[in-house]
Amino acid sequence: MMERIYEKIKTYMDRAVALKRALALFEWDNETLAPVKAGEETSRIIGTLSGEYYGIMTDPCLKELTEEWGGQMQEGEIRMACVSLLREEMERLTAIPREEYEANARLTAKAGAVWAEARRKNDFSMFAPVLKEVLGYQKRFARYQAKAGQKLYNVLLDQYEKGFDMEILDGFFGRLKSELVPFLKRVMEEGRQPDDAFLQGDYPEEKQEQLARMTAEYLGFDFERGVLEVSAHPFTTSLHNRDVRITTHYKDRMDSSLFSVIHEAGHGLYEMGIGDELTLTVAGEGASMGIHESQSRFFENIIGRSMAFWKPFYPRVRSIFPEQLANVTTEQFVRAVNRVEPGLIRTEADELTYSLHILVRYELEKALIEEDMPVELLPEAWASQYEAYLGIRPQKDSDGVLQDIHWSQGSFGYFPSYALGSAFAAQIYEGMKKKIDVEGALERGEIGVIADYLQKNIHRYGRTKTSRQLLIQASGEDFEPDYYISYLKEKYGKLYGLKEDS
Ligand code: ZN
Repeated sequence: MMERIYEKIKTYMDRAVALKRALALFEWDNETLAPVKAGEETSRIIGTLSGEYYGIMTDPCLKELTEEWGGQMQEGEIRMACVSLLREEMERLTAIPREEYEANARLTAKAGAVWAEARRKNDFSMFAPVLKEVLGYQKRFARYQAKAGQKLYNVLLDQYEKGFDMEILDGFFGRLKSELVPFLKRVMEEGRQPDDAFLQGDYPEEKQEQLARMTAEYLGFDFERGVLEVSAHPFTTSLHNRDVRITTHYKDRMDSSLFSVIHEAGHGLYEMGIGDELTLTVAGEGASMGIHESQSRFFENIIGRSMAFWKPFYPRVRSIFPEQLANVTTEQFVRAVNRVEPGLIRTEADELTYSLHILVRYELEKALIEEDMPVELLPEAWASQYEAYLGIRPQKDSDGVLQDIHWSQGSFGYFPSYALGSAFAAQIYEGMKKKIDVEGALERGEIGVIADYLQKNIHRYGRTKTSRQLLIQASGEDFEPDYYISYLKEKYGKLYGLKEDS
């Protein structure tokens, strides 16, 4: 009996998952290969497919089936996870009237172009009216979905990182503010800046591509189950665990693509590592945005910017660029790729200042959603926050409030997961070091040992466990931001030759 009910639920799930994957493929195509004029017509296909997805997920028959199945908790763990994930998504969507759901989809499809134009013209006032509308939908949807007494911003945060509400995030960002802002000041005032001029120069694209492939492969990215393409902004898309796609971009600065590839390969390994029994179910994805970012940032920063990683690998990089790197030692290279410099642009930020960029966005999102701050005040608020936390002030909106696409897409509550990802990564690293000799493995070029640990403790579970459960499993304890703060202080204190006091 239960078997038959699950089989019926599964037909809904299969259709929903297939539509989501089709949408992901369109998104991939849009960013990589689609011709410029494809936008308008393709967005209609996307609109129709999104509508179909909404229809499946809000079908009253599915609701009935999940209720019928509900009592039988002894069914397998995977089935239970799938049904409860379906139920959550169903509740989230049915709370929103279909007309509003579709109107919002049309609005956000259009808002991206308005944002891009405003950014190009460096004019926030062009974007403000659309942003106000997008924000209006997000607040309304949050109001529909909120449980009794739940704050609206907490509803939004929950979509990306379940269980991490403002109370926890205020504590987390409060620590970052009180510890990292003064520490950054010390680094800039007392530290010894490394020379990184050699990273910029004549690095031919085909050589950079060779390096990108070699690096991804070195990390364990399987090119028989994945591809590497070029796009304006690097990202990862996955259809299932045997079709994982990452992108990079090639710039004059060779470390830009190199670290993008390491970052995306971290996302890619996660997707490839999801269990066969889960892939193509609703549980066959990363557990949360924060956990996904923890994997990419673990590889990009903790592993990828460490001395131990480059010891065996840097000679291979130099063999691709023998002239450009002729006089650069491994140590000089490692110091250069760890150069700290407060800047205006988040995506170009170094490891130490990165989360301060997120701190600004977190505080502004809270003000917009919880305090109803008018969007017109954003440019000025943005600039003052940058001045306060990073010590620099944007002179134009395109270097300030207009730099990220996220808000145009209605993604409020998403930014904090970037900072959480970094903090999760540092905590997982601590846990991993108790179980395996990470530095030794890196020095011997045995990345597989590390990737294996992550696969066994995190990747294979997909969404059957929450970010909290995975964190406890991989590190031995619940979320503790201090690991991240002490990791940063120790690493950059050493790299910048600061005296050990503070
Ligand atoms: Zn990422």
